[in-house]
Amino acid sequence: MFKLNNIMDLDSSIKFIENCFNDCNENIKNDMKNILKKKSPKISLKVSLDSNIIVRCLSINEIEISIALFRELEAFYKVVLSEENEGYYKSISDDKNYCPSTASLYISLLMSISIKIILFHELGHIYNGHIQYLQNNSTNKIIDFSENLQSSIENTVNDVPLDEMIIKALEWNADDFSATRIIARYCHESVIESINNGNNKIIHSNQHMFLLVLESTVILYSLLGLGNNNRKEDFKHPPLRLRLISTISTQIFSYNIFNKEKIDLSNDLINLIIKLENMVNSYCNKTKPSIYKTSNNLNELMKESQGINKKIEDYYLENLTEILKPYAILSVLTPNK
Ligand SMILES: [Zn+2]
Repeated sequence: MFKLNNIMDLDSSIKFIENCFNDCNENIKNDMKNILKKKSPKISLKVSLDSNIIVRCLSINEIEISIALFRELEAFYKVVLSEENEGYYKSISDDKNYCPSTASLYISLLMSISIKIILFHELGHIYNGHIQYLQNNSTNKIIDFSENLQSSIENTVNDVPLDEMIIKALEWNADDFSATRIIARYCHESVIESINNGNNKIIHSNQHMFLLVLESTVILYSLLGLGNNNRKEDFKHPPLRLRLISTISTQIFSYNIFNKEKIDLSNDLINLIIKLENMVNSYCNKTKPSIYKTSNNLNELMKESQGINKKIEDYYLENLTEILKPYAILSVLTPNK
C-alpha cells in the first residue's frame, strides 16, 4: 500500500475547491462577455461530504461537488509526484534532480487543472442552457447531471429523463465546453508568466503548458475508470474512452487556433496517453478492488461503438444549436466547429 502523509485539512481543501470554482467563473465572465446573451447567473458551489455524489448541477444556480473527488486527486498526485516516484517528476519538470518544493507546485497545479476540467463541464451544462432545457422539457423535476467517479456504480434508466441521444449529446457538448475553456484558461503567455512569478519557473513554454493540461486530463479520465474492468455501461454519457479522445481532440483544436506552433495527435502523444493511463492503472490496482488495464473497455473504441458515437455527433452538430437556442446563456455554442 502507498503511504500518504500530509493530507490537506478539510477547511483548506474546501478553500482549494472554491478557489478553483471562482477561477472558472471569472474565466467565463471575462473571456465570454461578448457572447453573453443575458446576465451571468449567480452560481454557488456546495462542497459535499457525501462520497456517493461526485459532482452535479443542482440547479442553474448551484453546483455540488464531493470532497471525495478532491481526495482522490490529492492522493494520486501526491503519490506520483513523491520522491519515490521521481521519474514522473523528472518527466514533467525536465529537472535533473527531485525538488520537493517544485513538486508541490506541480501537485497543486495539476490538481487545480483536473478539478477545473470537472467544474467547467458542469458550468457548460449551465451556460449552454442544458439545465434550462431539461427543466422545460422533462417531467422529471430532479435534473441529475451527476458524473460518477466510482464508475462501477450503475446508472439506472430512471436517471435518464429524456431521449438517450439528447442526453448524450448534451454531455458531449459539456465536455467540449470544458475542453475549450481549460485551454483558454491555461495556454496563454500571460498565464504562464503569472504561474512562474516566483523563484520556481515550473512552466517552460506554451507547449509545455499544453502537455500539463493534457496530462491532467488523461489522469482525471483514467481515475474515472478508463481501464476499470468493473465499469458499467453509462446511459448518460458517451463511452468514457471515446469521451477522452473527443476531449483531447477539442483541446488540440482549441490550442491550434491561438498558437502558431501546432500540435497534432502524433504517435508520441498517443504513447504518452497510454503511458499515463498505465501509471494511473498501476496506482488503482494497488488501492482499489477492481482490475485496471489499458486493454479493458477497448470495445468502446471499436467500429460499432464509433458508429453509435457518429450518430450522437451528427445529432449534436445538426440539432443541438437549434434546440438550445432559447435556453443558452451564450449566443455561440462551444466549440464553434
Ligand atoms: Zn455532465
